[in-house]
Amino acid sequence: MIVLKFGGSSVADAACMRQVARLAEAALPHAPLVVLSAMGKTTNGLFDAAKAAEAGDLAEAMSRQRALMAAHRKAAEELFDGAVPESLDVALTDLFGELELLLRGVAMLRELSARSMDAIASLGERLSTRIFAAFVGGAWVDARTVLRTNEVFGEAAPQQAAIHSLAEMHLKPQLAPGRVVVTQGYIGATEDGLTTTLGRGGSDYSAALFGAALGAEEVQIWTDVEGVLTCDPRIVPEALPIPDLSFAEAAELAAFGAKVLHPATIQPAVEAGIPVTVRHTQKPEGRFTTISAEVRSGRPITALASRGPVTVLTVSSTRMLAQSGFLARLFEVFGRRGVSVDLVATAEVSVSLTVEADVPLKPLLQDLSAFATVEIHEGRAIIAAVGERLKSTPGLGARLLTALGDINVEMISMGANEINLSLVVKEERTAEALRRLHQVLMGSAL
Ligand code: ADP
Ligand code: ASP
Ligand code: MG
Repeated sequence: MIVLKFGGSSVADAACMRQVARLAEAALPHAPLVVLSAMGKTTNGLFDAAKAAEAGDLAEAMSRQRALMAAHRKAAEELFDGAVPESLDVALTDLFGELELLLRGVAMLRELSARSMDAIASLGERLSTRIFAAFVGGAWVDARTVLRTNEVFGEAAPQQAAIHSLAEMHLKPQLAPGRVVVTQGYIGATEDGLTTTLGRGGSDYSAALFGAALGAEEVQIWTDVEGVLTCDPRIVPEALPIPDLSFAEAAELAAFGAKVLHPATIQPAVEAGIPVTVRHTQKPEGRFTTISAEVRSGRPITALASRGPVTVLTVSSTRMLAQSGFLARLFEVFGRRGVSVDLVATAEVSVSLTVEADVPLKPLLQDLSAFATVEIHEGRAIIAAVGERLKSTPGLGARLLTALGDINVEMISMGANEINLSLVVKEERTAEALRRLHQVLMGSAL
């Protein structure tokens, strides 16, 4: 079997859904499991409605609910030429009734827990899949019966052993050549049946999890670009599609900001040895990227990505840095405070590291001040150059820094895996830095 995942822009309206139906139909011999995101920007709309309700503005929340309802009904009307089947009509009425109840509850209490937010956010995928399954006459499976997660609402971690056996039970019997099975990306449920989500952009991750659980031949991520490109095309329009990527390269790119793949997508695929392809829904005959274990790109630099804002902390301690155990003590603080560190660079008397911009710094600083002084630089961004032969290509570092010209590099870190060279710059210079690097380093790369 194969998994086909379609992102929000691929199912944004009736015309898009027709194209997705064509692609699902073409995959019929391969017993396709179609994993869908919410239509267009529906998830954003659900977040906005929930936030309005939390602020006590029920009128605004309801007006957003009605706008979402109108868009979904319009898509259904168009797909069925005005003759929406009664079962779909009832399903949509029920789902929008559920949304209304949830929003009223939030507005009444003026309280929006992560748990309530997940219940609300889940409606996007539940709606899009209902409409699509009805249109293609496929089987509709509630992802929450399969995609078991922990209880970290908003960013739930999947439990792969449970997903494996639940997929055997609820998905496998449905899959067969000649039949489309439709389910939701992004959403899951706890053992107690509470709705969770995998974090924004999580449908890619769902697709890989389903693929791994079912032993898929391939996981196809269908989106609005011709594969993974050498850089974010919104920043560097001349970015080119990369024909093939190793798992390691793809994982680094996703982790360092290439939005085209959710950062966790690659791990289940790696473990199950399943190739992942990234394809353009509107250009199915066009170029695409294959990510697999077999690929050895051998390129010095394959792609560039960026992530920001991040905060750089420079921790100094003349007393202690040279002594054994200092780094252990330092990272013990981050571990205890549950703060994950991205980049680390050490000097004789200081250690610089980056953390996400929204990390609460106060408790960290309190603990660190017991044995070190800390300088804080906010509003920075990480630029990552990813490639399989970064470290073994002489002169690359020099070319990279030369290309940046007057853009100051505040921190440099290169992983021992040879695959990622990261630089920290001021966030407002990110786009310019990427353009300069792309021009010099990627010009003739592919
Ligand atoms: P979907 O809704 O299909 O999941 P996303 O918007 O999440 O789509 O991801 C696709 C977008 O990712 C592209 O439109 C592009 O703007 C952005 N992007 C960022 N970096 C890259 C990259 N290196 N290659 C391709 N796309 C990228
Ligand atoms: N609909 C969700 C989001 O917008 C998940 C996804 O599209 O991957 O974040
Ligand atoms: Mg996405």
